[in-house]
Formats: sequence, C-alpha cells, structure tokens
Amino acid sequence: MFQKVLIANRGEIAVRIVRACRELGIRTVAVFSEADRTALHAQIADEAVCIGPARTADSYLNIRAILAACELTGADAIHPGFGFLSENAAFARTCEKCGVTFIGPTPEAMELMGDKATAKTTMKNAGVPVVPGSDGLVTTLAQAKVIAEEVGYPVMVKAAAGGGGRGIRKVDTPDQLEDAITAAKQEAKNFFGDDGVYLEKFIVNPRHVEIQLLADNFGNVIHLGERDCSLQRRNQKVLEESPCPIMTPSLRKAMGEAAVRAAKACGYRNAGTVEFLLSGKDFYFMEMNTRIQVEHPITEMVTGVDLVKRQIRIAAGLPLELKQSDIVLHGHAIECRINAETPSLNFRPSPGRVQGLHMPGGPGIRIDSAMYQGFEITPYYDSMIAKLIAYAPTREEAFMKMKWALAEFLVEGVDTNIDFQLNLIKDPDVEAGAYDIGFLGRHPDLIPKGPAV
Ligand code: ADP
Ligand code: ADP
Ligand code: MG
Repeated sequence: MFQKVLIANRGEIAVRIVRACRELGIRTVAVFSEADRTALHAQIADEAVCIGPARTADSYLNIRAILAACELTGADAIHPGFGFLSENAAFARTCEKCGVTFIGPTPEAMELMGDKATAKTTMKNAGVPVVPGSDGLVTTLAQAKVIAEEVGYPVMVKAAAGGGGRGIRKVDTPDQLEDAITAAKQEAKNFFGDDGVYLEKFIVNPRHVEIQLLADNFGNVIHLGERDCSLQRRNQKVLEESPCPIMTPSLRKAMGEAAVRAAKACGYRNAGTVEFLLSGKDFYFMEMNTRIQVEHPITEMVTGVDLVKRQIRIAAGLPLELKQSDIVLHGHAIECRINAETPSLNFRPSPGRVQGLHMPGGPGIRIDSAMYQGFEITPYYDSMIAKLIAYAPTREEAFMKMKWALAEFLVEGVDTNIDFQLNLIKDPDVEAGAYDIGFLGRHPDLIPKGPAV
C-alpha cells in the first residue's frame, strides 16, 4: 500500500480523498493555490504545499508544480479527483515517468476514451449500442448532409474533444447544418484547442443513465448499478438519484453488461463511468468518464462500497476481490449539488464569505463539503460548495429526508441554489420519477424569482 498520497485537487473531493486515505492508514499531501490558503483541504491534510497563483493554469493545472510538490514531500501516488487533470493522459504519463503512481486508468485508456468520436467507434466494434451517426469525424458539409439524412433530423453536432456540455449544437433542419457545424467547431477550438466534430441523431427526451464501474489490474471488471442524472441545467447535472426510478432488473443487467464490455474493450482499470442515453427500452453509449464522478456518493450509499478507497487499493495493485454477485443494491439515495450562485440572476456565481452555516444531519444524511463558517468562497473555481446526500430504505423516504434536509440547510453570506433544489424535490413529476433530460429546460417556473437564500 502507498505510504503517502498527494491529492491534485481542491474542495470537497480533496477532503473526501483525505478521509479515504486516513481510513487506509495513508498519509496525505494537499496542494493549494494562493487563493486557497485557508481552504479546508489544505488544513486537514498531513502536509500542504502551495503550488502557485489562483489561476488554475498556474496551480491546479500546473503539472510541473504538482510533481515538484510530490518530489518535495516524497508522495508515492497522486489522486487527481475530478475535473482539473483527472482526464489528462499526458499528466498520467508524466506521473509514471516520474515514478509516481497515478490513481486512475492507464494513459492509453484515457486517450482512447478522451476522443469521443474514436470512443464511439471502439464501442460500436465491441458490440455496445451507440447513438446512430457518423463513423468518426465529419470533415465536409456534403458528408454531414448525407449522414444527417440517413439518421434523420434533428441531429447533434458534437465536439470530439468535448466535455462539460461544450461544443454541442442541435440541428433541426438541413439549412441549419452549416451554421451549426461552424459554431460547434469554433466553440470546440476555443475550449479544447481541437475543432474536430462528429454527428449523431438527436434523441428526443431521453434519460441520462450512467453505470459505475470498477476494474482492477487483473482483468476483473464489475458494475455497481446506475445513477439517473437526467435533471440537468444546460447539460450540467443538478440532482442525481440511484437507482434510476424507471429501472428494471433486466434493463440494469443489459446496461451493466454493455458498460463492462465497454471497459474491457479499452483495457480499462480503476473506477470509471459509462454514460448512456435511455429512450424507452433502447439505450445508447454516449461517453466514458475515466475518473471518479461528482455523484459517486449515491452509488456508495446503495452498494455499501467505498469507491475512493477502492480506487486507491486498485492503483496499489490489489485485486478487486468483489465479484458481480457481491453487488446488491439496497435502498435509495439522492444527491443535490449545492452551489454558491443566484438562480434568479441566471445562476450567476455568488462568491463571498460564509457568515453563518448550519448543515443538516441525522440518520441517512451525508454531506460532502469543504465549507465551514467564515470560509471565503473565491470566484476562481467551481461554484459547488456541498453535496447533500439523502439515503433511506425506500425512494419515498429518501425524498422526504431530502426535503427536510434542504429546508434545514442554512448558508448565510452568499446566495445558494438551495431553494431551487427544494422546488425541484417538491415537484410532483420529479417525485413521481417522471422526468427526462429536457425537464429543467421546460420548467423555468422552478427557478426562485426573488432574492436567493
Ligand atoms: P460529472 O459527471 O462528474 O458531474 P461533468 O461532466 O458535469 O462531470 O463535469 C466534468 C467535471 O469537471 C466535473 O467533475 C466538474 O465538477 C468538474 N469541473 C468543471 N469545472 C470545474 C472547475 N472550474 N473546477 C474544478 N472542477 C471542475
Ligand atoms: P459532455 O462530454 O459535454 O458531458 P455528453 O456527450 O456527455 O457531453 O452530452 C452532454 C449532455 O447532452 C447529455 O447528458 C445529454 O443531456 C445531451 N446529449 C448529448 N448527446 C445527445 C443526443 N444525441 N441526443 C440528445 N441529447 C444529447
Ligand atoms: Mg457527459
């Protein structure tokens, strides 16, 4: 097992990883930017190293500074968390070259899945259902027109290097195709420095259902059930639940097996997630996230498996030990992402000092957060300040628990989306599980109008 792990991240996920390391008897090193001197992750780790100015390019994305911190402290492994360098194959490769274990998949698997057009082709060849569309990139308008006619409008133009919902354009009619391609290419170039785009059929009102995987270095791959992440705002997840409210055992088996095939097809190891669009009984591979995900706690609650501890054990070369038959889902878990933002002002980030704070608790309530009273939320990073997770034996009880936990949650000094989440959890359609990825777009009425609390 590792002696010392460096955590190349910040916020709640860095704190989460410190806790997992402690339970495994591993010492921890936090890295922090100048803007994060008083951040919780830097305070609770055994050691903390400043890696540069606030700007992410100078700190949390600064590979040299992070590896220097590793050298300085003698850490033997790096956990990248999510976001930042977590899906950067070059970083994983550099870690290996420096003799530091990257807690994640191989750089080769990350590369294979990082290009979404290539990943689709790999999946198709492995017998995993994919959204109908182009085989690889589209290079000319004429070619795009032919493919769009074949699969039928509406279609999606998507950036091969895409992430975070960027570089995606919907096209309803042939005359919009050229402009959509130009716009998607432009956005992809700006965000990812790569203007490759591909085309796929627009699936009308599907659900976003993803399968959590664990794979070790010995060819063992298991899935840990699904998460429904359909409640999205501009392709960003807002509230997630596990199990998916409309899941059936046979569909879970089919999706789980497809996800395992996907992992095997790219020689995957460590934790990963395969995202699918579910439309009726049909499901289509969308992409693979080669990292731990924001919403991993709901899977932990229903499976009883600590995914972060598993990631570390796998990276240390230990066998998985869990078999597929060991994974039994119990109860129901919901996660609400709590952000410092003002919903009524188009969800504008709301940085500032947390003047007063009361976090809910009680049986079945879990909070993953790096926030404390007096904490200064800086404008430099993601606005997510906490993940509120409710777990109960049944979905009804989990919803009831979440409702009261949200009502009890008090953050003073900054605006939050807590009231928005409360409106969402109280919505009869959400409560009935009758929602899809278009739900929030169709319900601007759920956004609180007055000053946010
Ligand atoms: P997930 O499926 O884990 O929610 P998303 O596709 O929503 O992932 O987003 C990609 C990841 O990048 C997320 O984990 C998100 O939190 C992270 N991320 C996005 N922006 C930032 C940022 N500014 N700082 C840190 N992490 C970020
Ligand atoms: P990213 O890499 O930015 O996360 P994804 O490929 O995962 O991009 O797509 C993000 C979201 O966009 C999905 O969760 C879904 O809501 C929507 N989406 C993507 N592809 C399609 C499609 N073919 N049809 C309908 N919606 C789609
Ligand atoms: Mg995605």
